[in-house]
Amino acid sequence: MPIKPENRSRYQDDWEQIRERILARAGHCCEQCRVANGDVIVRGIDKDAGTFQRFEGNGEVYAADDGRLLGHCKASEYCGNRWTKVVLTIAHLDHVPEHCDDENLKALCQRCHLAYDAQHHAETARQTRRARNAIGDLFATNED
Ligand SMILES: [Zn+2]
Repeated sequence: MPIKPENRSRYQDDWEQIRERILARAGHCCEQCRVANGDVIVRGIDKDAGTFQRFEGNGEVYAADDGRLLGHCKASEYCGNRWTKVVLTIAHLDHVPEHCDDENLKALCQRCHLAYDAQHHAETARQTRRARNAIGDLFATNED
């Protein structure tokens, strides 16, 4: 995910070095689905949703969630969207830009990063609802 301008100052000055270190640790592959940085892939839709196929190779089809090999499919029979180039990003697992310990950072492709963030946002929303309900309980009266 690109760094938002308002968060720019929250990143450490040596972010480029940190980023390089995490990418090297990951072997320049997504640490979730194993796609390589710069690889050209197509993501499946409809019958092939949840999978991807590489431009290189012999029609291998991989699971989008963890990169395991599912089988083979002719490119002409694969139901895909469009070719995209994988660009690895560095995710902060706790979503705090200042926390740059290696164990808090993960090299992820765009899809895995979005999926990780979506999961986090859902969890945050759940906690917010729970907190709101708890406050509601505080003000509940016996007349309810
Ligand atoms: Zn990925």
